[in-house]
Amino acid sequence: MSKVCIYKCQSYEEKEVNGVIDNIINSFDLLKKIKKGTKVVIKANLVSAMDPNKAVTTHPVLLKSITNYLLSKGCSVVIGDSPGGVYTKAYLNRVYNATKMNETCAILNNNFSTKKTVFKKAKVLKSFEYTAYLDDADFIINFCKLKTHGMMGMSCAVKNLFGTIPGTMKPEYHYRFPNHSDFANMLIDLNEYFKPNMNIVDAIVGMEGNGPTMGDPRRIGCVLASTNPYALDYICAKIIGLGINDVETIKQSKLRNLFDETKIELNDDVDKYVIKDFQIKKDINSLMFFSNKKGFFSKLISKASNKIFANKPCLKKSKCIGCGKCANICPAKAITIDNKKAKIDRSKCIKCYCCQEFCPIGAMVVKSSLVMKVLHSKKRKK
Ligand code: SF4
Ligand code: SF4
Repeated sequence: MSKVCIYKCQSYEEKEVNGVIDNIINSFDLLKKIKKGTKVVIKANLVSAMDPNKAVTTHPVLLKSITNYLLSKGCSVVIGDSPGGVYTKAYLNRVYNATKMNETCAILNNNFSTKKTVFKKAKVLKSFEYTAYLDDADFIINFCKLKTHGMMGMSCAVKNLFGTIPGTMKPEYHYRFPNHSDFANMLIDLNEYFKPNMNIVDAIVGMEGNGPTMGDPRRIGCVLASTNPYALDYICAKIIGLGINDVETIKQSKLRNLFDETKIELNDDVDKYVIKDFQIKKDINSLMFFSNKKGFFSKLISKASNKIFANKPCLKKSKCIGCGKCANICPAKAITIDNKKAKIDRSKCIKCYCCQEFCPIGAMVVKSSLVMKVLHSKKRKK
C-alpha cells in the first residue's frame, strides 16, 4: 500500500499553511520522529528566476513552514536546485532572490560542485553527473509544484528530480533520451537513485496552459504528500484531469511496478479536489514520436506519424524579442536568430520543448497538430 495524504489549503497565508504542514508531519512518522542533528536537503522547484506569484516555483511560505519545524527539531536544512542554465553562485543567487528563497529560514545551497556516478540498477541512466550538495543529506525532501509541462504533460514529484542534473548538462539528456519512454525512465532512474525520503506537492496554486514556466496560475487548493513519488504523481494527475497513459512517467513507473493505483491509501476523497476544466494538452504523451527501431520502414513510419500527430514548438513572432535564449538552450541546435526573431529548423527539432520552457516571455508555445485537435475535440464531445 502507498499512502498519499491530501489536505485542503486555499491560500499561502502562513496560518493556513502551517496548519497543513502540521497535518502532513502528523501523517508521516518519519517526519514526526525525525532525529536531532539530521541534515535535511529540500530539493525545491526553482526552475526560473520568477516571483512566487507566477506559480512557477515552490512557494516560499510552504518551505518556510517545513523548515521552521525541522529547525525546531534540531535539524539543519539546505534548500537547492539546478535550473536550466549555468550552475553558479551568481546565477543561483538571482534565482533565490526572485523566488524569495531568502524568506524560508533555510540555508540556500552554496555548493556548486558536481559529481559523476554509476547506477548499475538503472533502466536507462547507467551513469550520470549530478549536483553534489545532495550528498550532504541524511534526509531528502522533494518539494515540487504541480504544473503542466510541454514535453512530459505534467511536472510534479518525479519530474522535479531532473533538477539534480546540473543545468548546462540538461540539453544533452534530451539528446541521450529523445523518446518519451526513455526520457521518463531516465527521470524514474533519478528518483530511484536519490530515493527522496518524502515528497510534497505545492498544489495550492498550480499552473495550467503553457507550463512549466509560462502558463497561467490556477488555484487547485491543496497540498499533497507521500513517500512514493509515483503514487503521488498519479493522484496529482487525476486532480488535473490526466490518466496513467497521459503522463509517460506514471505509465512507465506502473510498468516498472513502482506503484499500483489500486493500492493507494488516501486520507480523503480525491474527487473533491478534481478540477474538471484544467487547461492541459492531453495529446502530448499519447504517442511515441521517436522510434528507436532501426530499419527503413520503422524510421519512415516514425517520421510520418511525427508529421501528422506530434505537437510542435511554435513561435509567436510578434512577442519574440530575439534574445536568443531558446537558441542557446536548444539541444538539437535547431534554432537560429534571423532578423531578431527565432527561427526553427523543423528537420532538426527533437521536440524536447526546452525552448518553450526557457523563453522568458512566453513567445514559444506548444501547439497541437490539426489531427490531434480534431481527435480530442471529438473525444470531448462524446
Ligand atoms: S527565447 Fe523567446 S524571445 Fe528569446 S529569441 Fe527565443 S522565442 Fe524569442
Ligand atoms: S526547437 Fe525547441 S523543441 Fe525543438 S529541439 Fe530545439 S529546444 Fe527542443
